[in-house]
Amino acid sequence: MSNQEIDELRAKIDNVNLQLLKLINERGQLVQEIGEIKKSLGLEMYDPIRERDMLNLIANYNEGPFEIATMQHIFKEIFKAGIELIEDDHRKALLVSRKKKPENTVVQIDGEAIGREKKTIIAGPCAVESFEQVEAVAIALKSQGLSIMRGGAFKPRTSPYDFQGLGFEGLKILRAVADKHDMKVVTEIVNPAHVEEALNYIDVIQIGARNMQNFELLKEVGSQKKPVLLKRGLSATIQEFIYAAEYIMSQGNGNIILCERGIRTYEKATRNTLDITAVPILKKETHLPVLVDVTHSTGRKDLLLPAAKAALAIEADGIMVEVHPDPAVALSDAMQQLNIPEFEHFMNSLKSSRLLAAD
Ligand code: PEP
Ligand code: MN
Repeated sequence: MSNQEIDELRAKIDNVNLQLLKLINERGQLVQEIGEIKKSLGLEMYDPIRERDMLNLIANYNEGPFEIATMQHIFKEIFKAGIELIEDDHRKALLVSRKKKPENTVVQIDGEAIGREKKTIIAGPCAVESFEQVEAVAIALKSQGLSIMRGGAFKPRTSPYDFQGLGFEGLKILRAVADKHDMKVVTEIVNPAHVEEALNYIDVIQIGARNMQNFELLKEVGSQKKPVLLKRGLSATIQEFIYAAEYIMSQGNGNIILCERGIRTYEKATRNTLDITAVPILKKETHLPVLVDVTHSTGRKDLLLPAAKAALAIEADGIMVEVHPDPAVALSDAMQQLNIPEFEHFMNSLKSSRLLAAD
């Protein structure tokens, strides 16, 4: 076969390609017309019975050389493109997605903004143990210019025999200390039935890693207005994390702060593996602020500062870190909480690294 013959055949193929192009677009226009009618009648765009009929027609009329399965595969792609053309692009985009809302969400916590240029540091004990313990931490936070304190009152512990938290008594302690020192409180709620009562005491509801897919809890916190700090599940993919946030937002509450807290991997050097690139991915895919919990992700005091620096450098909106006046006797996470001088050193190092504004 000469080169000239190849060129002639190629010209014919180009011609067929152009005809296909025209026909596929013509088909798209017809689909759009049907789409408009279906929309006005309130009908579903995708009709599996109609699709089956079209595939049968193709099978009946296929004369080869392509096999029926091959042709059906190609046509299914064309059908899919048609449906995508008419489905409301807006409806498909998640509420938490940047596609839906290009500008950043700034979560307001009673005058404190999370998600603006100024980074947020949320610190406090793993668990609330007493008024004195929480107050000692509050004073240390205040002297560093911080105003959002964390502390667990309902502790989801691995062993049922470990300290489970002070419950509502703990929430009352948090509120009393916060009011005395003009601070805000972030605390975990684990039971949907506790949400309403807890709202009397707290400023931000934390959903812990173990409850990221507790859908009833997500729906409950979504149906009220307080900001929600949602932690990534122990083994959750970023997509699952985003869907968990969508559960909250779909109920009407868009005040969501995401928190990367490490995921479980085979690595044992750290308690979890901090997925640092989850931060820019979440910020790209969603419009929500993203924090990094350096305590639970690393589980190691010596890694808190480098992990916090990495988080700020990769443009997280802030950090969560655990602080206890006497970690050696803490009722939970004794190994990884900073004592107050260590916390001061942590804060001063971040400020002098210029990753955190010194104010
Ligand atoms: C916590 O922040 O108190 C906590 C239990 O963290 P996580 O849910 O991320 O394990
Ligand atoms: Mn802890």
